[in-house]
Amino acid sequence: MPRRPAAALATSGEVLRLIRSGEAATRADIGRVTGLSRPAVSLRVTELLERRLVVEDSEGPSTGGRPPTRLIFNASGGVVLVGSLGASRAQVAVCDLAGKVLADTALSVDVEEGPDVVLPLVMRSWSELLGDRPVSLVRGVGLGVPATVEFAAGRTESARIMASWTGVAIPPIIAESFPAPVFLDNDVNVIAIGEHREIYAGEADDLLFIKVSTRIGSGVIAGGEILRGALGAAGEIGHIPVRDGGGVLCRCGNIDCVDSVASGTAILRQLRARGHEVTSLADVVSLVRAGDAETMTVVRDAARMLGEVVASAVNLLNPSVVVLGGDVAETFQPMVSGVREVIYRRSTALATRNLRIERSRLGPSAGIIGCAHMVLDHILSPEAVDSAGWQPPRSVRSVRSLV
Ligand SMILES: [Zn+2]
Repeated sequence: MPRRPAAALATSGEVLRLIRSGEAATRADIGRVTGLSRPAVSLRVTELLERRLVVEDSEGPSTGGRPPTRLIFNASGGVVLVGSLGASRAQVAVCDLAGKVLADTALSVDVEEGPDVVLPLVMRSWSELLGDRPVSLVRGVGLGVPATVEFAAGRTESARIMASWTGVAIPPIIAESFPAPVFLDNDVNVIAIGEHREIYAGEADDLLFIKVSTRIGSGVIAGGEILRGALGAAGEIGHIPVRDGGGVLCRCGNIDCVDSVASGTAILRQLRARGHEVTSLADVVSLVRAGDAETMTVVRDAARMLGEVVASAVNLLNPSVVVLGGDVAETFQPMVSGVREVIYRRSTALATRNLRIERSRLGPSAGIIGCAHMVLDHILSPEAVDSAGWQPPRSVRSVRSLV
């Protein structure tokens, strides 16, 4: 392990990062990895112990003699509140500081009713899920929403989708009840973070997540981090136009966006136009199972058009894995195989040399798990830990939001 130069002394926040990541488990490890002197290590560890970010494990391995005290990240030293908002339902949860779900529930919501209706519902659920735990235990809050989000401002940014939410800064509203840093992100970004961290971390750090559901969206993980772009609009794959889309007007105002020709909504619309009485994806599943040739054609066409757009994204981003999620991709094997075929045909040889195309493995909890990681990455970063914001949970403190 290389020693750090003395000029760049590791802070308490960096020492915590080493303990959380497993790179250092004892005071001696910390000294070895950071190059800090023994008193300097002791100072930082004492601070982390006092702030209850770290606890000592007296049950060290018995190797004869007195084992060195092990330092463990205190995952129960606080909680984060997370929520994943969809068009008609929301999942909310309380997680510990390792991202483990402690309590969760699902809510029926109509997101179009706006933040004045939806946010109080979500916040009431968080209060119920907290139970006897004091609000002062809440270290951070995260919400994934089905809209483009200007990440730093915590504002949604979609003129025609979730119109009643547009321009509303969500964090101050939530922080009034839960005084902690609040983070808002696009729902697909949050799912991409969850899928990457739980399934692919360290193995595939360049990942493209495509959600095919009522709508089509994507989240890009580049070098292990979510790619948000300058303001938060990166990954808006749904509004890239396709060839031969038939001239369909998209809800964004453009023609033949992949969202308007290959999403679950588009598949239902096309089947209805061909005289099938379908109202939900379950109806489409039945037709696929029954081997209905027309339905198979519609699904394959959708897969071809989506595949073209994903192939361009693969050329641009060179991911090592493309993950297809959302209920359409998870339900229809012809969709996945169709997309796979087009990607291999239309992407460059180098971009597809080691490319894997997989179905989502995390399932419906991906949103809240990803949200927990998004919040924890921020509130446990060395910079956040070294700032004055993180104090022991003795009483309700007014912690200024980071956003
Ligand atoms: Zn569009």
